[in-house]
Amino acid sequence: MVLDSEWARESPSKAARETADRTRPPCRSPAVPIPSLQNRDLPNYIIWERLESVLDEGDTMAGHNPAKTDTPPQPAAPPAPARAPLPAAPPRPLVAGMLRQAPAWMVSMLVHVVVLLSMALIVQEPPKGEAPRTIVSSAQDVQEDFEEFAEDLPQQPLETPNLPTTDEVVMADTAVENVQIVSTAADVDAASVSVEFSDFGTATAPAQDLLASIGAVGVQAGGLSGRSDPKMRTQLVKKGGGSEQSETAVETALKWFINHQLPDGSWSLDFQRCPSCQGKCSQSGSGAKKYPTVGPTALALLPFLGKGYTHKQGPYKPQVEAALNVLASKVVQGKGDAGEGMYVQGLVGICLSEAFALTQDKRLAGPAQLSLNYIMAAQDMTRGGWGYTYRNAGTSDTSILGWNLMAMKSGHLASLSINPLNVKKAVEFLDSVQSAEGSAYGYRVAGDRPANSPTTAVGLLCRMYSGWKKDRPALNVGLDRLVKAGPGKNLYYDYYATQVLHHVEDERWESWNPKMRDLLLKTQRTSGHEKGSWYEEMDGEGHGSKTAGRIYSTSLATMILEVYYRHLPIYGQQSVDEEFKE
Ligand SMILES: [Zn+2]
Repeated sequence: MVLDSEWARESPSKAARETADRTRPPCRSPAVPIPSLQNRDLPNYIIWERLESVLDEGDTMAGHNPAKTDTPPQPAAPPAPARAPLPAAPPRPLVAGMLRQAPAWMVSMLVHVVVLLSMALIVQEPPKGEAPRTIVSSAQDVQEDFEEFAEDLPQQPLETPNLPTTDEVVMADTAVENVQIVSTAADVDAASVSVEFSDFGTATAPAQDLLASIGAVGVQAGGLSGRSDPKMRTQLVKKGGGSEQSETAVETALKWFINHQLPDGSWSLDFQRCPSCQGKCSQSGSGAKKYPTVGPTALALLPFLGKGYTHKQGPYKPQVEAALNVLASKVVQGKGDAGEGMYVQGLVGICLSEAFALTQDKRLAGPAQLSLNYIMAAQDMTRGGWGYTYRNAGTSDTSILGWNLMAMKSGHLASLSINPLNVKKAVEFLDSVQSAEGSAYGYRVAGDRPANSPTTAVGLLCRMYSGWKKDRPALNVGLDRLVKAGPGKNLYYDYYATQVLHHVEDERWESWNPKMRDLLLKTQRTSGHEKGSWYEEMDGEGHGSKTAGRIYSTSLATMILEVYYRHLPIYGQQSVDEEFKE
């Protein structure tokens, strides 16, 4: 059973909540989806400031400070209201007489001062030097956690026989010790995201939302619980139609990635930069300059996490930890922005969230939340999509939306804070690009791609995660179309179509899976430095394949073969529930 996986037994969800709480602000207003943090916290802040100034005055005026007065302290008595020096305070009858003669506004003012001073004596003084909590992910907290994370990291070179020595390598500019930690995240737009997902039931997200429906089986582990336990992985491979060969292919692919990791833990799309490869592998990505570090590192890391291999578990702990460090460094440096555009940002959000969900390593909570905050802040809120860059509405497309929506879903699985409004807007974008009642999805507008395009596969997967039921007619029309087109169009299409069909687990999956699986087994490189990778015969024209080259193709192909355990079928619990009713 899914819940028996090693970390599911430890109720990771709860643990994750506790650790995530450190980077989450107190949610004082659940009914309001996106409260302005400044407005929400300013009154408190002002009250504290006023109380402190009153206290300062009160100390000298009311004899509160014994060093500055001859009279013994009388904390229980109401403090004297006047600003005149106290030792010469007149007798009470005179004060009473003065009060009677004083204008009403002065009496009122005196009463207010007395009340404030009384409050100041009662209210506990705030700890000196502690700023009011006004931000989602306190960069200070992130910094502390992250420095701890960085300290634990193995000093390069990594201890692995496959990794080259440092001398011959162009080091990436992200050495851990050079990380510039931001002083505060309060000025980041991303900080406006602060809704805890316990608020989801009452907020604006659809009732059957992205967050409610995912990973229904093994809820505690959040849909990722199939990965970590080797026994369960084996069972799921068998159940879903994988094979020993497909698992061997995954391991060979991971080995290829390890062989191409740079000594600092990153990957490059340019194989000339890899000391052990030096261009022996073909198909460096043409986007190597545009995506120098973060994109290829995230692409390479995803298949490791897909198999449940983390820095805590599996055969590649130091390599995974170094890679996570590269991503976390970039995110912390950029105050959430990983620095290579929104396509890559989505990949990074998935990586950090999954790694956090799988390991419960609290050091990852801050960077993961920051990366998600940036995703949510960068969304084009007019249409709900994501463009290539921050709020670049003109370039919003279904493909970028797919990765970023998956990042939010992964963040939710990791018990990180996701704003339901962002989910709702993303669903609105899907509405705007759908045709045929939602069985087909365009790239930027409805109908700008044929119905069996990769964007349809992306759209359908997003619909599944945002709550469409298995028996929805449009979903089934779309699924039939994917099966009819068959696998092998290109890896990007295959990656999404495989996930969509795996979730339904019916005869369409049984038709798709053997073709897809065997095609990948046939086309994986079996010799030379390329051994374990994919590109030839599988891609070339696919979305992103020229840009990101062999790293990208191999990443997608490996994750396709991990489909049996990478995400548990969305509709698993739904069918269990139906059986239960009968
Ligand atoms: Zn190579």
